[in-house]
Amino acid sequence: MHILITGGAGFIGSALIRYLIKNTDHQILNIDKLTYAGNLESLVEVESNPNYTFQKIDICDAAAIEQSFSEFQPDLIMHLAAESHVDRSIDGPSEFINTNIVGTYTLLEASRKYWQSLDQHKKSQFRFHHISTDEVYGDLEGTIDLFTELTPYAPSSPYSASKASSDHLVRVWYRTYGLPIVITNCSNNYGPYHFPEKLIPLVILNALDGKALPIYGKGNQIRDWLYVEDHAKALYKVVTEGAIGETYNIGGHNEMQNIEVVKTICHILDELKPQSNNQSYEELITFVEDRPGHDLRYAIDASKIKNDLGWTPVESFESGIRKTVEWYLNNLDWCRRVQDGSYQRERLGVKT
Ligand code: NAD
Repeated sequence: MHILITGGAGFIGSALIRYLIKNTDHQILNIDKLTYAGNLESLVEVESNPNYTFQKIDICDAAAIEQSFSEFQPDLIMHLAAESHVDRSIDGPSEFINTNIVGTYTLLEASRKYWQSLDQHKKSQFRFHHISTDEVYGDLEGTIDLFTELTPYAPSSPYSASKASSDHLVRVWYRTYGLPIVITNCSNNYGPYHFPEKLIPLVILNALDGKALPIYGKGNQIRDWLYVEDHAKALYKVVTEGAIGETYNIGGHNEMQNIEVVKTICHILDELKPQSNNQSYEELITFVEDRPGHDLRYAIDASKIKNDLGWTPVESFESGIRKTVEWYLNNLDWCRRVQDGSYQRERLGVKT
């Protein structure tokens, strides 16, 4: 098949492309604007594979998208391109509205035109898979409830509101125009090649530099952590086996308070890379003022994808976080090039 992936230079998109290139024979076209979050160095393992191609395109550029569809003739579209960082959405929501809402609308319209032009067989095989977040559901009180596919939307940040809007548009393009779509809403991901502004890589890299490990509020926010390679496998299952028009929640059954996550990382680092003064990295934990509107708890009920499609995560939090810390320790070069900006300067043709 020809699979067109948007946002393939990002954290989850690059994990998905590495998984597809290594485990299938599909032709993959990666379309990405290469914002600060897009890093082609996350794809070095697969970039010379003949089944992989990259095009630098903004998903808001309808003409470029249409041309790309007509040349590549995708059987499946997996849409991951987005602005994804909650703090950045609070500081400046406009790019979130453009990319997440207008960009998704632009892709949907281009997909609808393209899909309508296909012959009957190709038309029936075509899928538009929209990759979304559990943050559209808002947060949960107490420790018992879980987000199901029927939980009402109640987003709390400009990021989650823009993702909620895009989910609504995708459902409407199915209901109104019959475009064959599937939607997935996933919990927090972690793993290799995660951009160092996000909690887990930030903590690992700050600890290694002997810097403070900042934690919002009291660190009691609960997230349901999923190893990114488990997410990539779930996405492939849903796009190939999921029922048209359906939504699937994806989660790791790994609910942890942020403070527990940070302490776990500190303990693994104490073991693998002890500080020269023999103090635990925990000593570097610093509590900072909480984020406005910060959601307290997210937790996914992933029974639908398990029962209908037979997907369950392979990694526990213990195994996944250890692999992640080891990956960062072995790939400090990738991290430093992100931190000093050289991953971007070189592709803009500026020598570093
Ligand atoms: P990311 O920020 O790491 O990557 C986003 C990618 O999209 C980048 O490569 C960026 O260059 C590209 N992009 C941004 N704007 C674009 C535009 N206008 N045109 C083309 N490309 C553009 O994000 P991620 O963490 O990999 O998340 C991928 C998707 O999964 C997002 O839709 C996000 O909402 C969703 N999601 C993420 C998580 C998580 O924990 N990271 C959890 C659930 C769902």
